[in-house]
Amino acid sequence: MIVLQVAGIGTFVHESTHGVQFDAGGMAFRKDRKGVFGEDIFDEVEAYRSQYSFEPDSLIGPPFPPEQLIFKRIDTAWVRRLESRNGRIYSCGGSANVAQVRLTIYSGWEEIREGYHCDSELDRKYPPGYKPTNDSTLYYNAQNRRVAPR
Ligand SMILES: [Zn+2]
Repeated sequence: MIVLQVAGIGTFVHESTHGVQFDAGGMAFRKDRKGVFGEDIFDEVEAYRSQYSFEPDSLIGPPFPPEQLIFKRIDTAWVRRLESRNGRIYSCGGSANVAQVRLTIYSGWEEIREGYHCDSELDRKYPPGYKPTNDSTLYYNAQNRRVAPR
């Protein structure tokens, strides 16, 4: 017998939400596959809310807080408390290295510095004048202007 191990619908919806965010210019992939630019705490709130809407049970139990979940409690504070074996995932300096302010591929240098102020490689990754759309190491979609360039 062959058993297909597939992640639940909740995880699928979560990752699909990030796909929509990418399509809208809300984030960019690094071409070396070592991470993402512009994934932020608000993107995670949206993704976890989508996940919860389709499969609430997928957010109950370890590593998630055992409290009784309701949709509205999935906010930035809730997301920042999520932990894996390696500690906090989305808080400042967490393993996922998500930005702590809302970022897109059109964000300016100062916003980026604020969003990634806990990144130990901040100065190397984002030197003065850094613009994501000028960064040839990023892969992004600038065709779908749902996030307005500034
Ligand atoms: Zn996510």
